[in-house]
Amino acid sequence: MPGSENEVRLIEAVQRGEADAWRDLIDRYQGRLVSFAKRMLAQPGDAEDLVQDTFMGLLRSLPTFDPDRSLETYLFAILRHKLNDHFRRQKTGQRQSLEQLDLDDTPTAWIEPDTPSSHLAGAESLAAQRAALVRCLRQWVEQCEVQGRFQELIVVEMLMVVGLRNREVAADLGLSETAVAGVKFRVIERWRELTREQIRDHDWQEADLAATSTVARIWREEGVSCPKRSTLGRFLLGALDDDWNSFVEFHSKAAGCDRCLANLDDLRSEDERDARSHEQLRERCFASSVGFLSRRPE
Ligand SMILES: [Zn+2]
Repeated sequence: MPGSENEVRLIEAVQRGEADAWRDLIDRYQGRLVSFAKRMLAQPGDAEDLVQDTFMGLLRSLPTFDPDRSLETYLFAILRHKLNDHFRRQKTGQRQSLEQLDLDDTPTAWIEPDTPSSHLAGAESLAAQRAALVRCLRQWVEQCEVQGRFQELIVVEMLMVVGLRNREVAADLGLSETAVAGVKFRVIERWRELTREQIRDHDWQEADLAATSTVARIWREEGVSCPKRSTLGRFLLGALDDDWNSFVEFHSKAAGCDRCLANLDDLRSEDERDARSHEQLRERCFASSVGFLSRRPE
């Protein structure tokens, strides 16, 4: 989900130092961030402090923020980082360990290097390669959605995100093991095709692209298959068709996507939310960070 037009405009206004835009941005994202932090913390009271730090972190890095990135992904990444710091400081009382936060770190070699890496890529190039890989994976997810190939998507998430074996996926979905292996084979072939174009265009080595991180980790961190917030809203209203419904159900519950669960929590509480406490948190985040806005050069 790269930035929508609205989002890009909002970010640009904040980059120009417009205080109202900054307040809008906080207002738009604070709910899902607080819900996410509360899911992770033993003391939900710490959630608002961490969200306040998260907005400060965003503001500090905004001059170099690439509007092509998804702002939501970026904010969740900052918040995860703040949570990890928080756990490191506290060491006790956390509901979830760091290992659980990073359960995507299963080094499944989805894209096997064909050739040994002959040169060391700089950090900038690695970031560009990661972005290219994310674009390829998103493109594939979108194709699955448009063509209604949700089962393929579920198979991939079961193997890669949940870390199940072919046999377990087959049993779960009532498929043969051969069918699961076939899906996996076709998906990897398709990803190779998509990434090959990028590699050719940029003169990258396939090994470099694979070395940026594991695909499983990137998949999770970037929320490659996360449905849009509007889709999650329709899911809550029961307004999705069966295919979409079973995917969102699987993705949020069985695969346990924390980010989508946080969005769902936030959407559910939107109506009954105490408007005053929402406003108080927004103003607190705003007041603590707005001083940094005006220092930005034009
Ligand atoms: Zn998700």
